[in-house]
Amino acid sequence: NYQEQRELAQTPAFVAQTNANINGRKVQRLMIVLRTNGCSYDKEKKGCTMCDFRKHAIDIPVETTWMMSQVESALAKVQSTKEQIEQIDLLTLGSFLYDGEISPEFRHRIMKRISQIPEVKKVVIESRATYVNLERLVFIKQCLRKDQILELGIGVETSNEYLRQEILRKGMPWSTLEKAIEICKNADVHFQAYLLIGTQKLSEIKAIEDAVRSAEDVADLCLKYSVPFKIAFEPVFITKGTLLEELYTKKEYKLINLWSVVEVLRRTHHLGTIFVGMSDEGLSDGRIPEGCTLCTQQLRDAIEEFNGSQDIKIFDSIICNQCTRW
Ligand code: SF4
Ligand SMILES: [Zn+2]
Repeated sequence: NYQEQRELAQTPAFVAQTNANINGRKVQRLMIVLRTNGCSYDKEKKGCTMCDFRKHAIDIPVETTWMMSQVESALAKVQSTKEQIEQIDLLTLGSFLYDGEISPEFRHRIMKRISQIPEVKKVVIESRATYVNLERLVFIKQCLRKDQILELGIGVETSNEYLRQEILRKGMPWSTLEKAIEICKNADVHFQAYLLIGTQKLSEIKAIEDAVRSAEDVADLCLKYSVPFKIAFEPVFITKGTLLEELYTKKEYKLINLWSVVEVLRRTHHLGTIFVGMSDEGLSDGRIPEGCTLCTQQLRDAIEEFNGSQDIKIFDSIICNQCTRW
């Protein structure tokens, strides 16, 4: 009903606090997933096959003041912990750069608000590549302070054209991604690629190779345009009501092992700043990549530590005799 929807519209879809790394320094990151009317690409469930963000969308038009309340409530939460947040990931259920999902007025107000938080050094937004345009990026940058970095995240998922376009239904040709990165260059914006580890159809070994290859391909593209970049790996987890859940239930999809994530990090950490998204945003019902009962927690802690320190040696100290090691 309307009242419920109205209240939801003032509550973010998800909030988390994690480690991150800015220019080699470990910092605290606040991640907010803004609740909107949903992803325009996913109307009639025709969007990306692994995405279930639609469940969090609301039906009534979201007002700018409500969106502001969403952010304020997340900021209030971390203020009570007294930790200094230096990076804010302002994510949405779709694209921050599409006017049909996020109004220019909100973009303006929220970036101005963030520009007034002295500790915040970096702001991350995300968008489908097709909505990336120079004016919009420049506008957002101008709302921020000169010393604040704006980083644009795009769900690249994999550089394998078949997997990305046919299996994941991303609707993003590589050339569109390249154009978006070129625009980042011209707008003085950093780039972040979200890459999956464990796309369906791949064996565990192939999934490792695909993630490594994709990271190298993204790095090449960013080097070509001299755009500072970060790779954010997303080990695949199972969310409700998706095609992937069906496959998982039929035992046609197996979650990857956390040791495979470690192997991907070993093979890619030299490329630049690497981050592993370990949050399932409360969506998986515990169906997330693990090691075994002996090592899962240790591995999760080490990966979270790696996100801050970028020190690959942290994994050398973990030995598990029960798990296959690559
Ligand atoms: S992954 Fe992004 S673009 Fe794809 S359906 Fe989900 S929100 Fe939309
Ligand atoms: Zn183990």
